[in-house]
Amino acid sequence: MLSKKIVEELWEIVGKENVITDPIVLEVYGIDASPYSSIPKAVIFPENTEQIIKLVKLASREDLPIIPRGAGTSLCGGVVPVKSDIILVLTKMKEVIEINKKDGYAVVEPGLTNGELQEILKPYGFMFAPDPSSFSVSTIGGNVGANAGGIKGVKYGVTSNHLLGLEVVMPDGELIKTGILSPNYGVEHDITGLFCGSEGTFGIITKIAVKLTPLPQSIGTLLTFFTSLHDAGQAVSDIIAEGIIPTTLEIMDKITAKAVNEYINLGLRPETEALLLIEVDGLEAEIPGTLARIERILHKNNCISVSKAQTPEERELLWRARRSNAGAMGRIRPLNITQDIVVPRDKLPEMISTTQEIAKKFNVLIGQVAHAGDGNVHPIFLYYPWDHDELERVEKACDEVIKLAIDLGGTISGEHGIGIEKLKYMSWEFSPEDLNFMKQIKECLDPKGILNAGKVIP
Ligand SMILES: Cc1cc2nc3c(=O)[nH]c(=O)nc-3n(C[C@H](O)[C@H](O)[C@H](O)COP(=O)(O)OP(=O)(O)OC[C@H]3O[C@@H](n4cnc5c(N)ncnc54)[C@H](O)[C@@H]3O)c2cc1C
Repeated sequence: MLSKKIVEELWEIVGKENVITDPIVLEVYGIDASPYSSIPKAVIFPENTEQIIKLVKLASREDLPIIPRGAGTSLCGGVVPVKSDIILVLTKMKEVIEINKKDGYAVVEPGLTNGELQEILKPYGFMFAPDPSSFSVSTIGGNVGANAGGIKGVKYGVTSNHLLGLEVVMPDGELIKTGILSPNYGVEHDITGLFCGSEGTFGIITKIAVKLTPLPQSIGTLLTFFTSLHDAGQAVSDIIAEGIIPTTLEIMDKITAKAVNEYINLGLRPETEALLLIEVDGLEAEIPGTLARIERILHKNNCISVSKAQTPEERELLWRARRSNAGAMGRIRPLNITQDIVVPRDKLPEMISTTQEIAKKFNVLIGQVAHAGDGNVHPIFLYYPWDHDELERVEKACDEVIKLAIDLGGTISGEHGIGIEKLKYMSWEFSPEDLNFMKQIKECLDPKGILNAGKVIP
């Protein structure tokens, strides 16, 4: 518990209405979208950068660990306290500071949601290209913190590819500006890149300059079913090998597709083992030709049907189906661990089919969805929280899937981050020298270790 003196100091900085110490409400902020939980000491809603500077100085003086938090949709325990930390929720800081069409950038505060930014940019004819499936609630600050990817990653890349500058409050309260927000723009190292994906462990981001991407003139969307997951994975590899760069190439296995189909009817055929959702964008004249080339590849890989979204409403329905997979899985088991491995694209069929064998070996249910165009697979390990035996088997299967990804030349996280969940896997992928180097950077930027303590580096 915080002392009365510190609570009063917090009230003075942000106002009493922006400080939560009620134990029942604190519990709500002890969780994120991962299965982890732990109760924080206090939750604070700063409204501006000056307040954050004062809060960080207080935390540093009192050795109080703090966690910057956006919407709390982290899937890896990224905002769950490890040391009963103080949580700074940044959702009240959501101003759009500038939209500059001519130079192609916007400057926003971190609490704006990705979905809000997309709606704001639409009338200007632009978008912010990274679009995690959580876009309607996840914040731009959280997207930068986790270096979020999304369904358009195969063509447009991830958050780090669309960042132009940051304003950051450092752990000692110093305010720094990077990229185009810095007066020395052009001569610095890639400091913006250092903070992107740092999971709140290096500094608290208070302003973000993002690149504007023109909205495409035309979009084409295909839904296709396969009787073999391996064939679907092979079709993905073949599409990319043909030199086609779709906006999106999403794969769903039978378990996931069935759960989603019960929620939104996709016309799933009973023999379906996998579905692919494919989208291309570009000039109106080129879309039909590209879709026809893709259809040829799908048929060559034995797809059982291909349907085209004929209207924006049909397209939206397909995407709602894809984005609702996490919720739909709740129909099978109330909890899951969603992993986030990446393998080279040509190893995708092997990764997916061997994961199915691992599920059989441990007698567990694993649903699989993948941003297949990036080789980014999300095996979803389903379990009943009260069935300890099942959870133990899930954890063993999870370890084996992660090992497999590393053995196939892949990595332990494509977009969700490390948080608490993947701490134990860091030494499986990185050498002691690599880990020591990461530790040195952390110690240099945050010598007291107060920012998001106990995360990322084991
Ligand atoms: C249903 C669902 C679907 C998802 N789909 C995707 C997907 O397609 N792609 C993907 O990449 N992720 C996905 N995620 C994971 C998650 O939504 C993303 O990581 C997202 O970027 C987190 O945003 P947030 O606002 O919730 O941040 P939080 O979860 O609150 O924080 C995420 C990380 O960023 C840090 N952080 C937050 N704000 C700041 C700040 N201002 N300064 C410094 N650090 C900060 C936090 O400390 C934490 O480490 C999904 C999650 C769910 C629940």
